[in-house]
Amino acid sequence: MKHPVFAANWKMNQAPADAKAFVRQFLAYFPRQQDRLVLIFPSALALHAVTDALKDRPDIQVGVQNIYWEDNGAFTGENSAPIARAAGAKYVLVGHSERRHVFGETDEESGKKAAAAVRAGLTPLVCVGETAAQRDAGETNAVVIRQLRAALAGVGPQHIASSLVAYEPVWAIGTGKTASPADASAVHTVLRAELRTLTGERGEAVPILYGGSVNSGNATALLAAPEVDGLLVGGASLDAEGWASIVRA
Ligand code: PEP
Repeated sequence: MKHPVFAANWKMNQAPADAKAFVRQFLAYFPRQQDRLVLIFPSALALHAVTDALKDRPDIQVGVQNIYWEDNGAFTGENSAPIARAAGAKYVLVGHSERRHVFGETDEESGKKAAAAVRAGLTPLVCVGETAAQRDAGETNAVVIRQLRAALAGVGPQHIASSLVAYEPVWAIGTGKTASPADASAVHTVLRAELRTLTGERGEAVPILYGGSVNSGNATALLAAPEVDGLLVGGASLDAEGWASIVRA
């Protein structure tokens, strides 16, 4: 039985002082647990505030929302994987829908980012998901497989086995619409089969999270669906009490 993984993507919210206050409040609602992993992805500028506030809670790990694939150099405004790692991040989101659709990140670029993450000792959480138009055209499985393969193209089988994947339908992110537990489960099963193809039996251990308008009202049902190993939560992770109730699902 895998331990469920709960990941909070704060997006461009929570300045350092707010992040610190959030963590203090969240810890009061969420005493230490051995049977689940909690990940928080704050703004890179709040990373230090969050890692510092969590130094006595190894059950809660911290990551960055994005990296550039070069290690250092003349790339104004970017953060690299080694810099993120040195600043205390252990995880990184790769290929989040907003990176793809707001900032034009391509499949190939997601692949370079995942490879850079692994080189620097960061664990990638690879996000895949179809748009509403792709879903209507019956292309969901083909899209998520293409995105998964591209993101993991430069990652060896051993590191794929220790990565995480999130299925996040674009039409469900921040919209209040969620995939039904059965629909999420069906896509996760397709992703699981692809992970087995990429890394053999070890693919079984890769947590596959669902994300897209998860809240405290739908978290339990989504988490109970076969092949749903955890939840990636945006908007509903910004309220400490609500996030604690999701994490306790
Ligand atoms: C996300 O940002 O990954 C996400 C799933 O957002 P929301 O929960 O707000 O839909």
